[in-house]
Amino acid sequence: MLADQILQMLQDEIPKQEFERYIKKLSYDENESKADIAVFKAPNRFIANWIKTKYAKKIAQLFELKTGIDTEVKIVAGKIEKKRKVENSFTAPTPSTSSTKINPTYTFENFVVGSSNQFAYTASLSVAEKPGRVYNPLFIYGGVGLGKTHLLHAIGNFNLKKEKVVIYVTIEQFMNDFTYHLRNQTIERFREKYRECDILLIDDVQFLSGKERTQEEFFHTFNELHTASKQIVLTSDKHPKKIAGLEERLKSRFEWGLIADIQPPELETKIAIIKKKCELNKIELDDEIINYIATHMDSNIREIEGVINKLNAYSTLVNQKITLELAKNVLSEQRKEQQKNITLKDIVNVVAAEINIKPSDIKSKSRNRNIVNARRIVIYLARMLTPNSMPALAQFFGMKDHTSVSHAMKKVKEQIEKDADFKMLIDELEHKIKSLNSE
Ligand code: ADP
Ligand code: MG
Repeated sequence: MLADQILQMLQDEIPKQEFERYIKKLSYDENESKADIAVFKAPNRFIANWIKTKYAKKIAQLFELKTGIDTEVKIVAGKIEKKRKVENSFTAPTPSTSSTKINPTYTFENFVVGSSNQFAYTASLSVAEKPGRVYNPLFIYGGVGLGKTHLLHAIGNFNLKKEKVVIYVTIEQFMNDFTYHLRNQTIERFREKYRECDILLIDDVQFLSGKERTQEEFFHTFNELHTASKQIVLTSDKHPKKIAGLEERLKSRFEWGLIADIQPPELETKIAIIKKKCELNKIELDDEIINYIATHMDSNIREIEGVINKLNAYSTLVNQKITLELAKNVLSEQRKEQQKNITLKDIVNVVAAEINIKPSDIKSKSRNRNIVNARRIVIYLARMLTPNSMPALAQFFGMKDHTSVSHAMKKVKEQIEKDADFKMLIDELEHKIKSLNSE
């Protein structure tokens, strides 16, 4: 049985004594387990707790390796025969090392095509139809909530139907997986997993920035797959050239195939997407309301979806049709909510990452031009996006008084006026900061 095999595998990796004394006492509870939840029973709470702390994660990992399913492992005190509910069930957190499942609703059919995403859509579709044979890799980049992950999953769904081996992970999961296997000296398993798939879908590769060991490993994974003509698809919030702290050899490989960008949707596409989401979720919205949402909201589709869901929830709750009035209220609430959630720390972190300096530099007294500039931008965004007053900001940055803050504001406003690139940078930063809380 699978569970026995898993425990067998565990036996090879842990001290013999521990296996004999604890793991051996586990029994697999078939009745309570599901495809993605494995329940084991231990003779008492002490043993259950001990195994849970020490090995639940590991057991989950082994399940996933064996089955490809992201499995939650529960170690519970009690006997199997008795079907009573045991109160002390210790649930292991799902290991962050696992590959995420592909969302079945993120398909090509459910993706609304407009001129902003036409190119990325077409490229994704051809890659899905002929994996490894058209562009390899395909690199999709664009702002938050514009449909990158959706397209990645669409490629995955398309090929799962053809029984191809598809792996979808965020680069962070790839990294965690790598570190996990490194620590456990099971790196061969890691390599087997990633190098034996037909299609590797990796989300948000901008987070490779500065992670040298992972870059090194990913470089080899990439080469092996590429040589074997296995399809690789990557997404990022920026063009590979603009990912700071990314090795040149990776940058150049990311450009080997095709690079497709996704732009913020034009009004028409935004409206079509809202209609699609309403149709999929069986929500009725008048055109007037759809137009209102589309014109008054930023281009982040995830946020727009959030508002639609909220509207739907309200209207179900009070059992009334969704009115324009309600839509206006929900939107303004959402805006306030957003303001409340944005912290100065968020702003500092986003700006520092974009400008490629340390967050601590921003609060330092440095007069370096880059840093002074970043500090001004943070002050400007903090005024625009948070309820902080000028004196409060002055205090935060250890400035003499609020006149320094107003000076910084003035400088940024002037630059926005005269420099279109700078304005774009500010817009992008604002978009990123607002999107932090909607993930
Ligand atoms: P990203 O990965 O670029 O941040 P996502 O792919 O997660 O964005 O998209 C956010 C949400 O918006 C998802 O629910 C996705 O289905 C939806 N979405 C984005 N673009 C489209 C589109 N063109 N058609 C339909 N849904 C879309
Ligand atoms: Mg995404």
